[in-house]
Amino acid sequence: MSTLWQHQLANNITSLDELISQTANENLRNSFCSTANQQFKIKIPADFLPGLEDIDADPLLAQVLPHANEMLARDGYRADPVGDLQAMASPGLIHKYRSRALFIVTGACAIHCRYCFRRHFPYADAQINKDNWQPAFNYLHAHEDISEIILSGGDPLMISDDKLEYLLNQLMKIPHIKRLRIHSRIPSVLPSRINEKLISLLQASRFLVSLVTHINHPDELNQNNKTVFSRLKNTDIQLLNQSVLLFNINNKSETLIELSEKLYEFGILPYYLHLLDPVQGAAHFSVKESDAIALVNTISGHLPGYLVPKLVKEIAGEQAKTRVL
Ligand SMILES: *Cc1c(COP(=O)(O)O)cnc(C)c1O
Ligand code: SF4
Repeated sequence: MSTLWQHQLANNITSLDELISQTANENLRNSFCSTANQQFKIKIPADFLPGLEDIDADPLLAQVLPHANEMLARDGYRADPVGDLQAMASPGLIHKYRSRALFIVTGACAIHCRYCFRRHFPYADAQINKDNWQPAFNYLHAHEDISEIILSGGDPLMISDDKLEYLLNQLMKIPHIKRLRIHSRIPSVLPSRINEKLISLLQASRFLVSLVTHINHPDELNQNNKTVFSRLKNTDIQLLNQSVLLFNINNKSETLIELSEKLYEFGILPYYLHLLDPVQGAAHFSVKESDAIALVNTISGHLPGYLVPKLVKEIAGEQAKTRVL
């Protein structure tokens, strides 16, 4: 029997025809690129586009619509820009930075973001599943310097509550792991997933838990997910957000200011603002580093320090994310 969130997930928009019927906008046919869609299939939660009016300027649609620009090659834009594949310590486990390890628990996502560096590595579910987690647990047991485990993906909240419970139970047996972090786009895009069962699983663990959402534009916080964030606000789960700086989506100071203020209103602190990873097919989303620095300087003049995200980029082989500002 599927739960509400699984039912809603099954109703995701996964074709141009569904997108058109949902939005009643035939013009989308001209903006949609089927070749781009073959590379990375359209996937949009039914509630993700709350007020689609101008299809050429909608900051939410631009994140999810397969577009001809994705077919443009640009020097330096590669399939694996952050060197994740070399950093795999065991299937699914990436140990790049000291004290924390990132565990890819599934390749699946609730939404397909066109700029995502994982677009070329859907991390086929067949390779990463519960049956081959044991080597990762062994690795974690053996590495006592790891005090934080980051669940990632894909989207780690795509796994069922039962699987998550099993995973948490295994991780709790590793005494040196103190902190659990979940990197997920699901709280904002599929809020029904954050049900009481999930919250109680997290609350019942012995870990200090943080949930890092992925929200790029203030319109992604709205009536659809407000209730879930007020619920989360009343737990001891630390809420943080990471955004990607995206051309024509959130690269205006007013947008970033509004985003920080809205995040705080929803109980979330801005954590990172990432420069785009140079992934093949996403060059049209990139913002120049000098423009990014100027933007963050501008917003710093308007916001309290705790609402200014750290501007970072990822350089393969470095000890941590690189602070740009
Ligand atoms: C980003 C990232 C982390 C987390 O870095 P923080 O600076 O702690 O947020 C950990 N592992 C990998 C592989 C990462 O890409
Ligand atoms: S991993 Fe995150 S950014 Fe990438 S497609 Fe999935 S939800 Fe979007």
